[in-house]
Amino acid sequence: MRKQIAAANWKMNLTLAQANELLDEIISKRISISKDQEVVFGVPFPYLLLSKEKVKHLQGYFISAQNCYTHISGAYTGEVSAGMLASCAIEYVIIGHSERRDYFSEDNRMLAQKVDIALSNELKPIFCCGESLKVREDGTQNEFVEKQLATSLFHLKPSQIQNFVVAYEPIWAIGTGKTATSDQAQEMHAHIRNVFSKKYGTAVSDTISILYGGSVKANNAKEIFSKPDVDGGLIGGASLNASEFEVIIRSLK
Ligand code: PEP
Repeated sequence: MRKQIAAANWKMNLTLAQANELLDEIISKRISISKDQEVVFGVPFPYLLLSKEKVKHLQGYFISAQNCYTHISGAYTGEVSAGMLASCAIEYVIIGHSERRDYFSEDNRMLAQKVDIALSNELKPIFCCGESLKVREDGTQNEFVEKQLATSLFHLKPSQIQNFVVAYEPIWAIGTGKTATSDQAQEMHAHIRNVFSKKYGTAVSDTISILYGGSVKANNAKEIFSKPDVDGGLIGGASLNASEFEVIIRSLK
């Protein structure tokens, strides 16, 4: 069975003391997860090592960075490389979040480079895709998402796509309180799986965890995660509250 994942995206939030407290609170709940489930904390760079230290003995708990650069080292002031993350024993990296695409002009080709450098450093990308409200209103969301996936991922070998993690995050649902219905999520997730299946075959596409992101909360997680092609979520706002995030983790299939 492919992994069911509750991934937190803290974005640029929390002080060190608050990050410490939030992790301690969640860990103290001793939420037991099965071997097919994972909990991932996508934390700001300065908190990676602290977070790693806290979860390293917990089965199925992992740490993610929220970004990495396209190059491995050199004169790129302010950037952080995939190799640096790997050297800190970080397992995951979020690549292509819509906020990075919008505010930092990251396009599909640049994201292909980031995916490559992450994989070559044995980091697992959580690759984000998703359409704007305008695209959804035009009814071209399927083609739009397919192009994002094809341009950034279709150069990968089947062995690299096996067990890959994709997060479908409709931009109109991120941080807006507006969630896609569970049927809208399922429809797009099935489309995404089909896109991978056409390119790589079902044996490979069935191993890909497709997370839903966009205003997932304690009160809607169970319904969204219950859909057959929804393998958990990438959670922004609600992951900053230990009780909310606990319910979301417990809502995994
Ligand atoms: C996100 O940032 O990836 C996200 C889904 O945010 P939120 O849950 O706050 O909509």
